[in-house]
Amino acid sequence: MNRFYLTTAIDYVNSRPHLGTAYEKIAADVVARYRRLAGCDVHFVMGNDEHSQNVFRKARELGEEPLAYCDRMAAEFLDVWRRLDISFDDFIRTTEPRHRAGVQELIRRITAAGDIYEGHYEGWYCVSCEAFKQEKDLVDGLCPIHRTKPDWIREKNYFFRLSKYQDRLLKHFSDQPDFLTPEIRRNEILRLIEGGLDDISVSRAGQSWGIPMPQDPSSVVYVWFDALINYISAVGLGTDDALLAKWWPADLHVIGKDITRFHTVIWPAMLMSAGVALPRQVFGHGWVHLKGEKMSKSLGTVVEPLEVIELFGADPLRLYLTKEITFGSDGDFSWERYEDRYNVDLANNLGNLVSRIAAMADKYRGGAVTPVGRSGRLAELARQALEDYRNAMDAFALEGGAAAAFRIVDGANEFIASSEPWAIARDPARADELSQVLFDVAEAVRIAAILLLPVMPKSSAEILRRMGEQRPAGALRLDDAVWRNEGTRQVLKGDSLWPRALTVPAGAAEVTGYPPQATVTPANSNKDRRPRVDETSRTTPQPPVPAPAPAPAAAPAAAPAGADRISIDDFMKVDLRVAKVLTAEKVPNSRKLVKLSIDVGTEQRTLVAGIADAYEPEQLVGRTIVMVFNLKPAKLMGIESNGMVLAASPDGGKPTLVGFDQDVPPGARVR
Ligand SMILES: [Zn+2]
Repeated sequence: MNRFYLTTAIDYVNSRPHLGTAYEKIAADVVARYRRLAGCDVHFVMGNDEHSQNVFRKARELGEEPLAYCDRMAAEFLDVWRRLDISFDDFIRTTEPRHRAGVQELIRRITAAGDIYEGHYEGWYCVSCEAFKQEKDLVDGLCPIHRTKPDWIREKNYFFRLSKYQDRLLKHFSDQPDFLTPEIRRNEILRLIEGGLDDISVSRAGQSWGIPMPQDPSSVVYVWFDALINYISAVGLGTDDALLAKWWPADLHVIGKDITRFHTVIWPAMLMSAGVALPRQVFGHGWVHLKGEKMSKSLGTVVEPLEVIELFGADPLRLYLTKEITFGSDGDFSWERYEDRYNVDLANNLGNLVSRIAAMADKYRGGAVTPVGRSGRLAELARQALEDYRNAMDAFALEGGAAAAFRIVDGANEFIASSEPWAIARDPARADELSQVLFDVAEAVRIAAILLLPVMPKSSAEILRRMGEQRPAGALRLDDAVWRNEGTRQVLKGDSLWPRALTVPAGAAEVTGYPPQATVTPANSNKDRRPRVDETSRTTPQPPVPAPAPAPAAAPAAAPAGADRISIDDFMKVDLRVAKVLTAEKVPNSRKLVKLSIDVGTEQRTLVAGIADAYEPEQLVGRTIVMVFNLKPAKLMGIESNGMVLAASPDGGKPTLVGFDQDVPPGARVR
């Protein structure tokens, strides 16, 4: 089956899209782009849900015609989606004639099946949810989602015989175990169906904003019933049979976990009744929380996606939401964490790797890298990563796909550090070895960029161009991510893809509680962005010590037993932290000193270390080190050093940096 039709939920237009809304579209877009990369003919549909009474009221409040208001909002939504690089193929609005035709056609079929009847409805109705609420669903008499009191409503309604479909739904869930994923949502819904289903109201009386019921134009179709039908009206139900035959049934509905009941109970029952095939799969994703709260306009916990991409562009946000949130679970967004991941994954890791290979290829081979022997271990790592990536992405484990791509990036950085191209370059007899190392790194970066195309389309395309990939990114397929040890690559230099420039948007402070130091922190700044308690409260004066000094880790062997031992409290006065080296350069006129800018998790600092005789600056970039965090600043060769690097310093030998055998995040305390 080489076609793939996927949809997202369509959005209410009573407020602009927030980061939570954007999350769903970005995740679905990653799926759509992955399927295209995997060679599928993809149809990706999004849209707006416009027949809401909230929209009607909002437009009237603003003195606008509802449709004019919807037009304006549609333009705003489309602008946001385009700026986030969402690659939808079609965008449906429920006020369009094609949708009206689809809704009326489906209702005619359901009516003909005898599943719509007239009655009265009475109950609690939440205006914001546009849904009736069972007494048992209310919390302290309030809608649990909106925390507002619902209205008691009684009116003439048409009902859909949902109760009739309990057994068929249970059978469908048992025949198609993947119909609803992830598993946790499936279990919730199964219990709900097993508990018995009530018929549901499908119309509202006395309203003009909506699609008229075919059998009674004085009633309009209930907005939820209307909205669900967009998935099939968008591909031609009631208007275009050829289009319908091509794309229906949908392969995937990507929706929020709060609306799984509508999509996996009501929607399939509607289709069963109308004699239409069911969608293959529904994926209920989690919510993006802001400081632990669901993002919601009415609760005031909202971050606008444009505000975020203003800062670093769309790709870093796309990467963050894909890689940092397990697809299907809830996740968190905070400005601090966002900046942190930007610096670690993009500025320091991938961005740095792209710059390094381009600089080395240029310096040693004029940019043209050619393999002359066998590829090293990076080839096997890339092969394994491709397999892991495919498995993860096929199973909608988007975070696993992104992580697999970054394993290649990490592997390439480690490969550079361990193979030391700068050292090989000093020996003319090792010219072939150098060529192969450079080629292997460029090939690894090319493959990582292909795997990242669905997640970061623009920057991955740019990386591919710089790695000498001749074909346009859109023409590449997953099979092109297979390692090829052949040909000459013209590797190109370019501007830094993700410069380390940490700016906080002016508005972010009020919305998110971000510390209000809205300043630019250049890479080499040693200014604290935030005061730290442990710094201001430290009391023991310490003499400025030039780095490096003997490392505590190496000291115990030489320490005298007993007499000179210190208490744990004394030791805890020394605040040791993990840091990552961002930049490194030799201090002019000094044989031993190297100036480092480092990421300590919460801030960047400059420090000077006496390790230049043991390490080339290029070897230090990206390396994880341990530093004394609460050391008083000291001036060395005119540079203020804020902290001290720990290294084992055997007498008469060269220093060896204290390191770790696995990834430790910058800022972690060492004790
Ligand atoms: Zn509500």
